[in-house]
Amino acid sequence: MPLTAARFQSNRVVDFKESVIREMTRIALAHGAVNLSQGYPDFPAPVEIKDAASQAIADDVNQYSITWGSKPFRNAIVDYYRHFYKVEIDPERELTVCCGATEGMISAMLALLNEGDEVIVFEPFYENYWPDSQLCGAVCKYVTMLPPTWQFDYEELRRAFSSRTRAVILNSPNNPTGRVFNREEMQLIVDLCEEFDAIIITDEIYEHIVFDGEKHVPPMTLPGGRQRSVLVNSLSKTYSVTGWRVGWVVADPELTASIRKVHDFVTVGAPAPLQQAGVTALHLPDSYYAELGATYQQKRDLLVRILESNGLRCSVPKGAYYIMADISGFGFKDDLAFCLHLIKEVGVGAVPGSSFFSRAEDGRNMVRFCFAKKIETLELAGERLSKLFRN
Ligand code: GLN
Repeated sequence: MPLTAARFQSNRVVDFKESVIREMTRIALAHGAVNLSQGYPDFPAPVEIKDAASQAIADDVNQYSITWGSKPFRNAIVDYYRHFYKVEIDPERELTVCCGATEGMISAMLALLNEGDEVIVFEPFYENYWPDSQLCGAVCKYVTMLPPTWQFDYEELRRAFSSRTRAVILNSPNNPTGRVFNREEMQLIVDLCEEFDAIIITDEIYEHIVFDGEKHVPPMTLPGGRQRSVLVNSLSKTYSVTGWRVGWVVADPELTASIRKVHDFVTVGAPAPLQQAGVTALHLPDSYYAELGATYQQKRDLLVRILESNGLRCSVPKGAYYIMADISGFGFKDDLAFCLHLIKEVGVGAVPGSSFFSRAEDGRNMVRFCFAKKIETLELAGERLSKLFRN
């Protein structure tokens, strides 16, 4: 009997599409375009941590670590949160080291959500949250953030909660908008989670990439937030090592016990030598983080100037390393057509705005550009963008 492939596709993945972000990177690379699509640096990681990784391999840290993370790395994470936020974390019961924040997020959601549960997601949103919810059988309820400041309406947020709400998924500093949720907003969300007995799952991977004096406030540090928070983070963005795939989840012991069950059976554990290098990373001096933010702010300013001078109106991000630009003046059919033209005719890669919306039409006038690049790369993109014409 011939194989009926469709019969072997689970209902969970039937509606999945290829990640548009990674697809754009592939097309951009195939066309030799300057790749400002997928969010990763084109400059080297700090030499101290590269050396630490090589040393760990030479020292034979090459076998499985403890499933939920090597002891030295978990201790370093504890030191890090004590240092930055004065939060005490129990490394034995409140931490799970994962293969990147991506695994942290899906392991947490699979462990904590049930079929039919509702999760609140701020829109536009990083593309993983919908497939993650889908894998759990959970239903996304969207709350709109409106350009150019990407504020949300408190009443709309409140209306999104119901007795079925199990979690809020919040990414701050935010990809793709660059919005940094302030203390009051975080507290409002924590309070609503208390009222409706929900948890708040935060993706905090851009915590140190903040501009204009902004400061990231983890909900875990707020009154009522300690127990209800599931904090997801990773080495990727802070230390420019997106390919290492080392992240972690901090959560209350009972939640952590469930998260560890999923993590254990799905991955066994995160890369052992890279966790060892993570100890060096998490102990870098404060000056490292100050410089990281300052350097990214210069890059933001440069790319905003380049985009604006080529007719792309920007909403200026307060954090993370992306800029959402308005393409409505260019007369393209939609954001995908614009991005394909940009790659093939102009030689610059970007991500169509629609990949960050539940309804494609809401993002059809937007395109996301990444500025985690060398100054030379951004300048080269600038030269090429001057070819962009209004048609
Ligand atoms: N977070 C990065 C981005 O938004 C890359 C992640 C991915 O490959 N999807 O571009």
